[in-house]
Parts: sequence; C-alpha cells; structure tokens
Amino acid sequence: MMRKQIAAANWKMNLTLSQAEELLRDILAENIIPGEYQEVLFAVPFPYLMVASKAVSAKSNYAIAAQNCSHKISGAYTGEVSVEMLSSIGIRYCLVGHSERREYFKETNEELAQKIDLLLIQQITPLFCCGESLDIREAGNQNKYVETQLQQSLFHLSSEQITKLVIAYEPVWAIGTGKTATTQQAQEMHVFVRSVLAGKYGEETAGKISILYGGSVKSGNAKELFSSPDVDGGLVGGASLMAQEFIQIVKAMK
Ligand code: PEP
Repeated sequence: MMRKQIAAANWKMNLTLSQAEELLRDILAENIIPGEYQEVLFAVPFPYLMVASKAVSAKSNYAIAAQNCSHKISGAYTGEVSVEMLSSIGIRYCLVGHSERREYFKETNEELAQKIDLLLIQQITPLFCCGESLDIREAGNQNKYVETQLQQSLFHLSSEQITKLVIAYEPVWAIGTGKTATTQQAQEMHVFVRSVLAGKYGEETAGKISILYGGSVKSGNAKELFSSPDVDGGLVGGASLMAQEFIQIVKAMK
C-alpha cells in the first residue's frame, strides 16, 4: 500500500489574522493539486482554525491542523482547548508533542499518550513529533531516546490505532536553527523509527505509517530530503511562513 506523503506547515505563534489570510490565499492561489496519496496541511494558531478551515474547504487533500490540544477531556482548565472542541469545528489533524511544547511547556510522554487517545476517539489524526536534542545526538544516544519517546507515548495503542497516526521526526538541533539533518541522517532515523514500530506492530503495519522529517526544511533542500524512501514529507516551520518557499516545498513531494 502507498503511504501518504504530507507537506505540513507549522506556523507556530506567528502571524496576525490578516497576515494569515494573505499567506493562505497566496499559497492556495498557486492551485497545486495534490496527488491521491498526498496531503497539504497547515497547523495554525487556535484563533484561526475556523477561518483557515473555510479557506481550504473546497480543496481536496488540503486540511487544517491544530498545533496542540489539552490532555484533559473538559472542565476547569482555564486556557486549554479540548479535543472535543477541535472536533466540533471540523478539525481532522493535530500536532502532538512538538519539541517546543515538550521543552517550554514541559509536556511529558505520558501526557502525550493521553492526548493521542483523546484525538483517536474523535477521529482526529495525531501528528506525533519526536526527536533528540543536540547533546543526545552528540553522545550518540539518539536512537535510544527516540525509541523511548515512541514506547512511552504510542506503544499502548493497538495495531489498528497506530496506523491512524502520522509521525514527525524532528531533531531539536535542526529546528529553527537553519541546520538541517543530512538526507542520510534523516533516512537513517526514519528507518530506525520504522524498525521500532515494526518490532512492536510488525513490518506490514509499520510500513503504512507516514514519517515526516522536520528541521529547517526549505525549498532548497526539500526535494532531496523527500526523495529518501522513508521520508514521507516534511513538517515545516520557518519556511512555511513564506508563500513561495512553502509552495516549492509542496511541489517537492515525489
Ligand atoms: C517545526 O516547527 O516543526 C520546524 C521544523 O521548524 P523549522 O522548519 O523552522 O526548523
């Protein structure tokens, strides 16, 4: 079976509403028609989810993602946004465990497991982010570290559930630093992630899961990165804020 290829924009905490509308308009005006197994996602700030959803609603294989959700179901959690709320406005994708949330908001692997469970109940696809920091990479412990992230957040899922996920490998040392992992480093880690999944769920199931690369993807390196057999697209921060950059990245999907 064909794995889905995904070009996902992560706007993070950037853009005013009018800037967001303009960016989306400029990208959509390019009229790129994704292939049957391709998807273009925009992870936008909460206040723009509905406007952005409306903007892409007529386009097949374009969708809007939330950047985060609460690990609690509902209730007295001021400032949080629940999975049910996202579902009620038609959101079908949500980032989970971006490294910035792990680092600045102290999200734990266990909380991320709870978010994934809630998302799957609402049939929202979690884009689960994993990846090691520079010190871990320099010590040569990146495989062990990423394996633990996968085990602690995903391994409670059934085979059927795990195929509903998208995984994004994002080495923290490559995020927003302009320092991209080499195509070989990305491919090696993606093969490793798939082997960890295969160890738990079998080769066939692991082969169905899209694994995106994230970390300073831009127009100039997207084609090469995406040409790796186990790199099923990208999660893009900085370059996704520039229409022409992101357009080229979308076009770089094989
Ligand atoms: C990200 O936010 O997921 C990311 C990869 O950022 P950047 O592309 O800016 O490195």
